Amino acid sequence: MKATVDPDRCQGHARCWDISPEVFDLDEQGHGRVIVTEVPAGLRKKAADAAANCPERAITVS
Ligand code: SF4
Repeated sequence: MKATVDPDRCQGHARCWDISPEVFDLDEQGHGRVIVTEVPAGLRKKAADAAANCPERAITVS
């Protein structure tokens, strides 16, 4: 699984980092960014939960 954050949609609510800090971090402006190239199997549900809870629908998991 891969996760991506669309920087044009992200508004910096930080929910991704709150839900799955192993996969997401925040940049200096508080915008989400992905810190792993491949989401490990054990973190897929958390990454998917983060995507589902992003208010801006900025996260894609595939
Ligand atoms: S939850 Fe969505 S809008 Fe908020 S920081 Fe993460 S990617 Fe950006």
